Amino acid sequence: ARDLAAADPDVAAALDAELARQRDTLEMIASENFAPLAVMQAQGSVLTNKYAEGYPGRRYYGGCEHADVIEQLAIDRVKELFGAEAANVQPHSGAQANAAAMAALLTPGDTILGLDLAHGGHLTHGMRINFSGRLYNVIAYHVDADDHRVDMEEVAALAREHRPKLIIAGWSAYPRHLDFAEFRRIANEVGAYLMVDMAHFAGLVAAGLHPSPVPHAHLVTTTTHKTLGGPRGGVILSTAALAKKINSAVFPGQQGGPLEHVVAAKAVAFKLAAEPDFADRQRRTLEGARILAERLLRDDARAAGIDVLTKGTDVHLVLVDLRTSDLDGQQAEDRLHRIGITVNRNAVPNDPRPPMVSSGVRIGTPALAARGFGAQEFTEVADIVATAFLPGFDDETATALRKRVTALTERFPLYPTLAATTLE
Ligand code: PLP
Repeated sequence: ARDLAAADPDVAAALDAELARQRDTLEMIASENFAPLAVMQAQGSVLTNKYAEGYPGRRYYGGCEHADVIEQLAIDRVKELFGAEAANVQPHSGAQANAAAMAALLTPGDTILGLDLAHGGHLTHGMRINFSGRLYNVIAYHVDADDHRVDMEEVAALAREHRPKLIIAGWSAYPRHLDFAEFRRIANEVGAYLMVDMAHFAGLVAAGLHPSPVPHAHLVTTTTHKTLGGPRGGVILSTAALAKKINSAVFPGQQGGPLEHVVAAKAVAFKLAAEPDFADRQRRTLEGARILAERLLRDDARAAGIDVLTKGTDVHLVLVDLRTSDLDGQQAEDRLHRIGITVNRNAVPNDPRPPMVSSGVRIGTPALAARGFGAQEFTEVADIVATAFLPGFDDETATALRKRVTALTERFPLYPTLAATTLE
């Protein structure tokens, strides 16, 4: 039994380099997080070897007794965490959760209503070359051109005009709460199902720091690896009435054998998400995003044409608006990369620049909160980010800012007990 370093030094070396990268930089991609060691141990377990097609107690393979225990724990815990009547924990990813959820409710050719990708929606909410755009007739709603908040009057008008069978509320880049009750009222009015994709804000919901979509939606999908801080994967929560349809849409509809090692890691993550430490981490996540927004709205940034969409945030991310700045999204991303901060550029609504350049940056705080950052550290991070965006950024500034980044990474060691190329 050779370990990884002996069996495959090439992969081992790249993994070691990735661990060093995660340790030495500030991760501010809004959809990323650091899974706790316990989650990674469960995922890197012997369950990777097990076929378990079917559901707990009803499998198509022998030897599933332990997989059953684990999957049932994951189901029970996530139902409890979010107060849902039913849960399917098998979707391999958020995209597959959405594909299965839509397959359960819709027939190809049916009409769906989702947030436009360029206004913060996700690929699976109806992008033209995604499965959602190819299978279904997509109508998109938008954010208001002035306040950049979802225009609920437009949602209602489009719903009345197009009578969608499914309305999707949820986003990948939007800094405010959605009005789930109003979405449901509109869905009821036109006889549509309401699906909320809470992938981004599920951790905030679990901590009670964001309104829950569960009481309002027919079904709720999520990823488990964003604010929720678990392994990469998906979940579908639904009413009891829809559970059978959802289960058969996931398996055998979309998937074969579930990734029970990932399900084990999900079960661990759901347990941790009910603990007080998790709520504190989500609180610091929100605090960090607020501090960042406030810093980027200060006079020196405003004078450089830098703005923040919706003038702030209620969630774990800030959308920097560079439409009136000489700095574009690509340059902003590159500057932060150079000083050891990882973000992604992002088109803003009505972006005048091409998508590969863009006029926005999406900056999130979940991973730094997982590292232990609180108000004081986020204040320092916010000032580093703002300074990097200001005119006059040169080699000297870059060196000074990189030093400040390194000081933070050294004060908050990531996975301090994790040795290179092993999980022990
Ligand atoms: N839904 C939303 C709102 C997302 O932001 C994402 C990922 O970015 C997904 C679904 C898809 O998740 P995955 O990347 O696991 O397929």
